[in-house]
Amino acid sequence: MSLALAPPSRPAPRVEPDALPCRNFDPDLWFSDSPAELELAKSLCGGCPLRLECLAGAVERQEPWGVWGGEIFEHGRVVARKRPRGRPRKEDLARDAELRTEAAARVEAAVGAVESRKALRLAA
Ligand code: SF4
Repeated sequence: MSLALAPPSRPAPRVEPDALPCRNFDPDLWFSDSPAELELAKSLCGGCPLRLECLAGAVERQEPWGVWGGEIFEHGRVVARKRPRGRPRKEDLARDAELRTEAAARVEAAVGAVESRKALRLAA
């Protein structure tokens, strides 16, 4: 089942700050200049119980940079990946286009899920 179609089954969990990966690993990973370190931060976010809320909040705040909710932000927008320095190859440009589409779908699904949870809380 697509995340976008999944019904919001419960409100956002209450989580101790120490349970957040970005509190338990070197926080510089989340703001690194290294594409590999940013990918590592993204993968660590994958196990975070607040990932959807974190991502939706970062989208709303238009975070200028860093990894939030498992996505890389640059200048307030989600980018599929941080490009290494140098001129990109044609294959990389094609792959980037695919990754951009996938990232946009993930962001849309996360924001939609969080909005649904908020609506349920307001209705309760
Ligand atoms: S999803 Fe947000 S709160 Fe969770 S580890 Fe990633 S940056 Fe931290």
